[in-house]
Amino acid sequence: MLIIDAHLDLSMNALEWNRDLKRTATEIRAREKKLTDKPDRGKGTVSLPELRKGKIGLVVATQIARFVAEDSTLPGWHSPEQAWAQTQGQLAWYKAMETQGEMVQITNAEELEKHIQLWNNDAIRDEKKPVGFILSLEGADSLVNLSYLEKAWQNGLRALGPAHYGPGRYSPGTGMEGPLTHAGVDLLKKMEELNIILDVTHLTDEAFTQAVDIFKGHIWASHHNCRILVPHQRQLTDEQIKILIERNAVIGGGLDTWMLMPGWIRGKHDPQKENITLNTLIDHYDHICQIAGNSNHIAIGSDLDGMFGLEQSPCDIDTIADLQQLKGLLAKRGYAQTDIENIFHGNWLRFLRSTWK
Ligand SMILES: [Zn+2]
Repeated sequence: MLIIDAHLDLSMNALEWNRDLKRTATEIRAREKKLTDKPDRGKGTVSLPELRKGKIGLVVATQIARFVAEDSTLPGWHSPEQAWAQTQGQLAWYKAMETQGEMVQITNAEELEKHIQLWNNDAIRDEKKPVGFILSLEGADSLVNLSYLEKAWQNGLRALGPAHYGPGRYSPGTGMEGPLTHAGVDLLKKMEELNIILDVTHLTDEAFTQAVDIFKGHIWASHHNCRILVPHQRQLTDEQIKILIERNAVIGGGLDTWMLMPGWIRGKHDPQKENITLNTLIDHYDHICQIAGNSNHIAIGSDLDGMFGLEQSPCDIDTIADLQQLKGLLAKRGYAQTDIENIFHGNWLRFLRSTWK
């Protein structure tokens, strides 16, 4: 069954982790055997062949580059212009993948329908199909000013999360408190004008409340789990989930084990020992379904290889292709075929069709 994954940092992996995503996960791991610069070396789960193997035919793919002030301890660029240039390098990689026939950019309803038809055509082998990507920007720091949002839109940017980790030029993010900046308020207005989807993932609680109030366009939470199950400010409260449901939003369930187990400590806990599996994500799905009264608001936003690998992913995942196991697991938990279709692709598709109609 076709899967749409609404959050993958593909170009970050290509350019900052130096991963040739045209290769299989096994090949990429082998190439990293001697590297020790990052905790997830040799533990990657995502590549283009693995995506095809898992019938993940469409992804929301990020551009990501943070600006950091002099006193910041976070990694990032020293000026917004440098951050912008980094995102343009990332865009160049996506374009190179497109030229190779590995990927294809989706920016409107017509391209979407054509691409879904291709992936639903069983006469063509999946290995021959390009992985579709919708461009999203995670953290808006790299937009030097609002004129850059128009440039980004012309490059195909269709979704944007104003915040990431720490302070931001447009909004504070995960681990912070406080409202949108003045520039953030203007950014939302411009996004609405351009029909860019607002991704509320990583916003502070204050910025979330403010953003859903100001922004009248389409909203999703690309990779976001439930706070009541795993308490942390980075997760959605029940109140926030209710607001998102009212706005016809879809919430992509994330697979970072840090978002799946209360008190997860990076580098200490082990997914196998803690028995964190794809089933753990279904607990979050269940909770949102109970609030909504249906399965129309949950989907996949795996975030796999989002600065973590096997050491921080559910233990029943070897590569992203294993997302297909969700089908059997959901059925066992009582989800009907239509619910499973909603989660795998139906909800994101409905959302995109209504956004681009
Ligand atoms: Zn993220």
